[in-house]
Amino acid sequence: MGPVALAIHGGCGVMAKLDLSEEEWVAARADLARALAAGWAVLRAGGPALDAVEAAVVVMEDSPHFNAGYGAALNTAGAHELDASIMDGASLSAGGVTLATRIRNPVKAARKVMEAGDAVLLGGPAADDFARSAGLAMVEPDYFTTPRRVQALAAMKAHRAAGTAAKASEAEKHGTVGAVALDGRGHLAAATSTGGYNDKPAGRIGDSPIAGAGTYARDGVCAVSGTGKGEYFILHAVGHEVASRVAYLGESLEAAADKVIRGDLAEVKVGAGLVAVGADGSIAAPYNTDGMFRGWVTPQGETFVASHAEVFRV
Ligand code: ASP
Repeated sequence: MGPVALAIHGGCGVMAKLDLSEEEWVAARADLARALAAGWAVLRAGGPALDAVEAAVVVMEDSPHFNAGYGAALNTAGAHELDASIMDGASLSAGGVTLATRIRNPVKAARKVMEAGDAVLLGGPAADDFARSAGLAMVEPDYFTTPRRVQALAAMKAHRAAGTAAKASEAEKHGTVGAVALDGRGHLAAATSTGGYNDKPAGRIGDSPIAGAGTYARDGVCAVSGTGKGEYFILHAVGHEVASRVAYLGESLEAAADKVIRGDLAEVKVGAGLVAVGADGSIAAPYNTDGMFRGWVTPQGETFVASHAEVFRV
């Protein structure tokens, strides 16, 4: 078995320390550690990277601390429209769902879409119907709603009414979860899941369900999952861009990821971050905002979680 590695993120942003209580910061980091443990259990047992990224994302979708699944952001109409995707670096196949409203774990539906092979992306009621017929757990839309997201939507609408939307804290705006993994057979995979951004227009689709933008994996190169204003991740084809720099320019994963996040996106003033794992197990987790929920397990099995500069060993 070759080296294995895993990295996750739970969204980036200003993440002012006052946005959450100390207990909430601790609980969010604990959920990052649980997500890593779920993915790592798969990899350590010799399982596939695809299973590892799915398992890690499911834990974060089920956590209220991140903007995906339970605890997802509300759109401007006060509804949840969820996006997710998964990509297999071995076969360059991918699956995604967008504008889903009732799928408890959108990343599981993305996996089913990939496996069915008829489409790369299914949207709206068709995505919900597909997940139901695939036997996945379905929920009422209000399952996803937490008091924090209701308050965040009200706060964002108040900012808009007052013309101060730019001043809204990042916690009121967006977030996403994602995972990337290298398995013992040398295969890479990536998965991403999100509620999009707070107060987004109804019907808006972000980068997270789109292969090449918010999610990308290619064996021998890298796997990438992004977070930040999705429109720019689509326009900059971020996942594919990072992989292309590695594959065609021969840059290290860290240099390629840094150039895109701290260079290209920072230059256009887009708050952004990503996690990536290389074919050799190298890990990059750059962000150009004040913080990014993130965590990783090294090929040696050491686990780390962080939200800001301080990194905690688990
Ligand atoms: N990328 C997500 C989206 O645009 C949001 C985020 O990561 O903050 O839907």
